[in-house]
Amino acid sequence: MTRKTVAVVGGGAAGVLATRELLRCGDDRVVLIEPGEPGGGLAYGSARPWHLLNSRAGAMSADPDDPLDFARWAGCAPSSFQPRSVYGRYLAEVFARTAAAYGDRLEVVRDRASHISVAPRRIYTEISGYIEADDIVVATGNPAASQPFALRDHPDYIADPWRQGVLEAIPSDVPVLLVGAGLTAVDVVLTLTAGGNRDAPITAVSRRGQLPLSHISEISPATDLSLDEPRNLRDLVRTVRIAAAQASDWRAVVDGLRPSIDRLWGSLTEREQETFLRHLARPWECHRHRMAPSVGARIDTLREEGRFEVRAGGIRSVTAPPAGGVLVELEAGVQWFGAVVNCAGPGRLPASAGGFVNSLLNDGHARVGPHGLGLDIDVQGRIADDVWLIGPLRRGRSWETTAVPEIRSQARALIDRHK
Ligand SMILES: Cc1cc2nc3c(=O)[nH]c(=O)nc-3n(C[C@H](O)[C@H](O)[C@H](O)COP(=O)(O)OP(=O)(O)OC[C@H]3O[C@@H](n4cnc5c(N)ncnc54)[C@H](O)[C@@H]3O)c2cc1C
Repeated sequence: MTRKTVAVVGGGAAGVLATRELLRCGDDRVVLIEPGEPGGGLAYGSARPWHLLNSRAGAMSADPDDPLDFARWAGCAPSSFQPRSVYGRYLAEVFARTAAAYGDRLEVVRDRASHISVAPRRIYTEISGYIEADDIVVATGNPAASQPFALRDHPDYIADPWRQGVLEAIPSDVPVLLVGAGLTAVDVVLTLTAGGNRDAPITAVSRRGQLPLSHISEISPATDLSLDEPRNLRDLVRTVRIAAAQASDWRAVVDGLRPSIDRLWGSLTEREQETFLRHLARPWECHRHRMAPSVGARIDTLREEGRFEVRAGGIRSVTAPPAGGVLVELEAGVQWFGAVVNCAGPGRLPASAGGFVNSLLNDGHARVGPHGLGLDIDVQGRIADDVWLIGPLRRGRSWETTAVPEIRSQARALIDRHK
């Protein structure tokens, strides 16, 4: 059999896990295209020491056959919540070990893919030219952040809170507004208050004013709801609410649903999915993607001390006064903030596609998937012939596709891609 060349575009968590599975379980040649250090990526590459994983160590193994690989590597209890930077080092080491074992079949191209062609099948990059490949795996991560309002070029508006140094540059004596109250906002609050010298308050505003909930230290065994029958959304919500109310801990019900989520999401009509996105997705995510217990406790303390508050409602208007800062009209009135930080999370396609994914759409190699949450894929996970997709951009066709357990299963499935 002729050896194939697989080009993996993106070397974050998904690209590293895909590269490892392709090399370890097959005999293809792999070309990994990634401008930064493999294993970095948005979640783990630039995390600060106070940013903890929101999953227990026992869920984070890179190896589908050895669930405790990460906990053993980190020398920690599988039930513990480790810093994301530690997980980033683990992924970098997973990649280094893969490169050491299969270096004769691995090439790393430190560049950014710009577009592809189908005949001949090539991936063009910004600097190095092009790479010929038989198959392509797209692993470029989340769509770009949505930008809730047009302050884009204002010096006191931080469009991307992950950019190195931007949060540290905010003076500690100016009030800060966070647009969004999810896990990104929690990360930002931890960074802004890490030095202990912030004396001005932080406000997060979101439509519902709901923060993520917390894990508890003990693990409750997941409850099996046996949701075999396809149901409508209303029945589904009622069943889950009743089960959660009857359980000794609602987290057991939420965790027990995880293996069924994609099937349940797929069984909803398009209209029900829209309804879910509009009214239920946010509360669901607050219950599903939880803060580590110590992070939850820290956030509670900051709220009790009046250093952090969360408000429900929209932003009616923003204006930039000549003296600096931003005047924001919230439900309660107009307030001045020295900085406004966008914590709104990934946007929808095609607007938030970003360079490479945009080129896939514009050149007809990919279609926007359901509700613009990601790209469309077939049942095998392909966006086009011989072009596979793994990671967060599968959202829409799947629901659970952003966390490590799902990504490592998608990576493993790549070895069966021609069966
Ligand atoms: C803040 C945060 C915390 C999280 N915490 C957890 C957790 O505790 N547990 C859990 O299971 N999951 C967690 N997740 C979810 C999940 O692990 C991540 O979403 C995961 O990192 C996705 O990996 P990825 O490789 O698809 O994307 P990314 O990690 O974003 O990597 C994408 C990579 O693609 C590269 N790239 C992009 N465009 C191109 C291009 N054109 N050419 C070449 N390379 C390109 C980028 O440089 C980057 O390295 C978290 C996510 C976030 C954002």
